Amino acid sequence: MAGHGQDDDDDDGSGLYLTLLCWIGLGLATLDAFLQPLPAGLTISALVLAYLTGGIPAARGAVSALVQDHRLDIDLLMVIAALAAAAVGAALEGAVLLALFSLSETLEHRAMGKARRAVQALMQLRPETALRDGPDGVTEVAVADLVPGDHVILRPGARVPVDGLVLTGTGHMDESSVTGESAPVRKSAGAHVHEACVNLDGILAVEVTRSLDSSTVARMIRLVTEAQAMKSPSERFSDWFGQRYTIAVLAGSILAFVAFRLLGHPTAEALYRAATVLVAASPCAVVISVPSAILSALSAAARGGVLFKGGAALENLAEVRTFAFDKTGTLTTGRAGVTAITALHGSDSDFLALAAGLEAQSEHPIAAAIRDEATARGLTPVAVTDVRAHPSEGITGRDATGDLWAGNARMLTAMGATLPSALAALADGSETLVMVGRGPVVLGALTVADEPRDTAGPAVAALRASGAAILMMTGDRAPVAARIGTRLGLAPDEIHAGLLPADKVRLVDEATRRGRVAFIGDGVNDAAALARADVGVAMGVAGSEVALQAADVALMAEDLQKLAAAQRLARRAARVIRQNLTLALGAMAVLVTGSLFFNLPLPLAVLGHEGGTLLVVLNGLRLLADPIRTR
Ligand code: ADP
Ligand code: MG
Repeated sequence: MAGHGQDDDDDDGSGLYLTLLCWIGLGLATLDAFLQPLPAGLTISALVLAYLTGGIPAARGAVSALVQDHRLDIDLLMVIAALAAAAVGAALEGAVLLALFSLSETLEHRAMGKARRAVQALMQLRPETALRDGPDGVTEVAVADLVPGDHVILRPGARVPVDGLVLTGTGHMDESSVTGESAPVRKSAGAHVHEACVNLDGILAVEVTRSLDSSTVARMIRLVTEAQAMKSPSERFSDWFGQRYTIAVLAGSILAFVAFRLLGHPTAEALYRAATVLVAASPCAVVISVPSAILSALSAAARGGVLFKGGAALENLAEVRTFAFDKTGTLTTGRAGVTAITALHGSDSDFLALAAGLEAQSEHPIAAAIRDEATARGLTPVAVTDVRAHPSEGITGRDATGDLWAGNARMLTAMGATLPSALAALADGSETLVMVGRGPVVLGALTVADEPRDTAGPAVAALRASGAAILMMTGDRAPVAARIGTRLGLAPDEIHAGLLPADKVRLVDEATRRGRVAFIGDGVNDAAALARADVGVAMGVAGSEVALQAADVALMAEDLQKLAAAQRLARRAARVIRQNLTLALGAMAVLVTGSLFFNLPLPLAVLGHEGGTLLVVLNGLRLLADPIRTR
């Protein structure tokens, strides 16, 4: 692709206008040449019009590439070829070149702009104002003025102004703009609502949890912007090719001119043929073949609720041989509910209030299950301070009485406690066990039902069918892992339990020996594995900031089938890229051979060259019409 329309997004209108004028000029000149001779003045004016309207934008692009980026641009090749044609009396051919070049630039620019803007369009979904429920009643305020802790009222039909937590009310939310899922999602007290989603019914009171610049839309846009800096290997190839090769084409055409002269052709003919070589060899199609596919695929994915951090992530996902899943919160909901409470000292309620206090701030899905249970029983969590998370073990903190902990057998051992016989049966069972204690004294335990997500089984099956290996990694105990794994159709050697975050990283490294690895986690203590894998996939818009930073792909919805769909899209994109490069390089080889050895006329070289470019762009755009769907 040449540069003159690529960098600025706003000149669509004038670009189209100039292209139109260029074609009018070309049309009149063609009329004169083939159908109906026109007055000489009119014909010359028409040609000048075509040259100016087609050539000036290209010349501007060429100069700015030369001055700003110090590189020779394809625009320059086109301008030189057109001028060379005019110089040897083939002005009409030169006009055809400029008109086609200008048209394909405009079309390409429009198409690519559409792909690029898909996510930015989310910005327009942001409401300007919100209804804040403050000390002086409900008032309308600018969304930018909302701060975490504010209360806002959401009426039916209103868009969520910033991310928040439902305090009261129930209703259904259309989250399709963010997650790509069309089915409305029910929201009631305690649920997260995301910026730019639409409240369909019901009146909700929402507590603001994030300010505008850290809410969902801002985070999505940041991800996509970062993405554009991370180029994939084939994008780098086509960039490199475009830049280096342009110089070679220029040099080659001069050489061809000299050679034709030496072979005895007259100067005018040698120049004409050298211009034909120049056009035939110009790498427009090669340069656009990769970005057209990647941009289209990235924006199709974004509309389906899957954000790729760039073409590299897309190309890597297409090649993944092993999908390694975190269990809790990823393959399973992790918050299906508390199934049993065994308090060893005092009442179940006091015990649960204590556990909920300790887990009050934790992002872990188990913590959410415990808090939900306490809320359901109308308990007030005990105030706990100095809270510290111990990844894959549990959590510690301090209440009015003293130090406290909650966690698994590892935590128990670390605290110098031993398993009370009353808990022995639970500790062997296949449910996730959380013990709570003070130092060496175990106060009790609760079990959390960890159930597979509805989408986990089908997603695992689809990925396996694509030929990939599946792994499950968890910090939970082996019996729980085995029960979940079996239900998802995993073999015993695909299940790894009792892992610390560092063990997950080690297993990812081991799997890397068999090819590319994707790690899929909810981000609670998986950031290291997410970062280490070739493709880190973080799930859920509410997913932690760290996870989104570490990941290469974000699934906005908690729907694992999107991953299988994203992999299919990535593979299709890889195929389209291969087709495009083959087509572009093949067409170039044919045209160059023709122009060097078979006296290919300039207009045919131009047609082949621009036609190839457009074909490649359109082939890439097919991916745009291919949104990620899971049902
Ligand atoms: P997974 O790898 O399956 O996502 P984690 O590594 O997050 O699981 O957690 C492993 C185990 O560590 C849990 O099964 C639980 O026993 C314990 N644990 C981790 N965080 C907490 C917490 N906040 N409260 C209680 N237990 C926890
Ligand atoms: Mg987890």
